[in-house]
Amino acid sequence: EKTPVTILGLGAMGTALARAWLAAGHPLTVWNRTPARAAALAAEGARVADTAAEAVAANTLTVVCLLDDASVGEVLAGTDLTGRDLVNLTTGTPAQARARAEWARARGARYLDGGIMAVPPIIGVPETGGYVFYSGPRELFDRHRATLGVPAGTTYVGEDPGFAALHDVALLSAMYGMFAGVAHAFALISKEDIDPAALAPLLADWLAAMAPAVHQTADRLRSGDYTKGVVSSLAMQVAGTPTFLSTAEQQGVSPELLAPYFELIRRRLAEGGGEEDVTGVIDLLVR
Ligand code: NDP
Repeated sequence: EKTPVTILGLGAMGTALARAWLAAGHPLTVWNRTPARAAALAAEGARVADTAAEAVAANTLTVVCLLDDASVGEVLAGTDLTGRDLVNLTTGTPAQARARAEWARARGARYLDGGIMAVPPIIGVPETGGYVFYSGPRELFDRHRATLGVPAGTTYVGEDPGFAALHDVALLSAMYGMFAGVAHAFALISKEDIDPAALAPLLADWLAAMAPAVHQTADRLRSGDYTKGVVSSLAMQVAGTPTFLSTAEQQGVSPELLAPYFELIRRRLAEGGGEEDVTGVIDLLVR
């Protein structure tokens, strides 16, 4: 028997999650503030609850996927959570997740927080590699692991309910750094007779080739030795910064995305980090 699931929130993501559970044969109860969004799912076999309270009462396991933490508070306010297993896949901060876990505990519920590393079209398509970070009680995660693994992969990151959100935000923050670099690269060639489509594969391959450097960074952070085996010293890298800034100027491109990073590596060099790689930037960021 497949575990019955309740889903609160049928936006783009909630609907994709609902479809994946329905397709896998899980009895499903759904609720959405705007009832029209539940119509298609009803036709596909979901039971539509009239209220969030009724949806929560229907099954032990309730998955929440709403816009933000405030909407989660609003929707769950009128529900009886006693003895319920609440899985919150709404994006939020670690602090919001911790507060929500405490809030749920005070109402008699067990609580897992999640951070979705996938977009709706890849939900329910396991070969795409989409997954969800989970944090909270290990035994609760283990109990629902098979069910939670239906729409996407599951990656458990710890008992602290804030850790799923923290991992989610850490990965997405790194992504924005990458997007920033990519924007600068395309801007550099924009006035030249260079096809962006010709640069794209070179960029993609280069970023993929550089990505494993994160393992070296982790090794350095763990050992505390930022100098061992360094092949591209900070001193050398800082000496190269005028090349990047002058090229930007020559191409009529603002250095505003690149300059803050250069400021940090210069500061680390000034503080004596010339023999290191760029790991010391992390120490400058942590206040
Ligand atoms: P949508 O904007 O498509 O849907 C938002 C949902 O929240 C709707 O069901 C909406 O109800 C509901 N909602 C908003 N405010 C309230 C409220 N005050 N009371 C009751 N219900 C409310 O968002 P998504 O489905 O795309 O995203 C849901 C969550 O998933 C977000 O936290 C998002 O960050 C996360 N996520 C989304 C990804 C994506 O690519 N879409 C990727 C990874 C995470 P109604 O229909 O009535 O408006």
